[in-house]
Amino acid sequence: FGILYIVATPIGNLQDITQRALDTFQSVDLIAAEDTRHSGLLLSHYGIKKPFFALHDHNEQQKADLLVEKLQQGVNIALISDAGTPLISDPGFHLVRKCRQAGITVSPLPGACAAITALCAAGIASDRFCFEGFLPAKSKARCDKLQRLVEEERTLIFYESTHRILDTLEDIKTVFGETRYVVLAREITKTWETITGNEVAQLLAWLKADPNRTKGEMVLIIEGKINSEEKQFNPQAIQALKLISQELP
Ligand code: SAM
Repeated sequence: FGILYIVATPIGNLQDITQRALDTFQSVDLIAAEDTRHSGLLLSHYGIKKPFFALHDHNEQQKADLLVEKLQQGVNIALISDAGTPLISDPGFHLVRKCRQAGITVSPLPGACAAITALCAAGIASDRFCFEGFLPAKSKARCDKLQRLVEEERTLIFYESTHRILDTLEDIKTVFGETRYVVLAREITKTWETITGNEVAQLLAWLKADPNRTKGEMVLIIEGKINSEEKQFNPQAIQALKLISQELP
């Protein structure tokens, strides 16, 4: 059998490719990609020319069978997406599942992923988090989804588009309250990289003040609900206790 390599590619800065990714592209027989024209340009930047196979969200289930057949015939394949790590809000899951069921080796090559890259710089708890991908496009469905997450204590990570960011933040303000802390990581690894954190109402006001602030690709990170045990101590009471304890022998 051949091997299926899952290869991460940069999310904006072409220098973020790994040496192993480049070596793998050179060694495989075929590259499965979402947008073969886009990926052709990316790989030609690194001087790589290989046959491509188109694998999109809408044709993945049926095309995966064809790729599995090729792997069974000994063809080595690298799966890439337009940017970042395949399968993370990108195609690949059905293919990987079918390969594993067929006993084909799936070898992952780590690299850029927007969610993880954003989390690293957000200054929000990173020990426990949930990745929620894209929120629904329609406000009612989006609010319902957010409502189901309102008690979540872990950090919440979402992908969002420039067209919806203001509406989504309005919904977050309504559902989570004006003071919930949110970080917007925009154009990470690119020229206009901006990582901004604030209470959601303030973040919204800041974004509305300049339309350029809502442009580009973005990750939204919401601080999880503060544990209710911590919350029940009011800050003034804690301050008073500190003062009293200083007076104690
Ligand atoms: N598989 C990719 C990954 O590993 O990050 C994500 C693919 S998803 C279709 C594309 C979304 O990822 C964008 O809409 C945006 O929310 C986020 N994204 C990708 N590149 C980004 C960047 N440079 N800065 C901020 N967000 C980015």
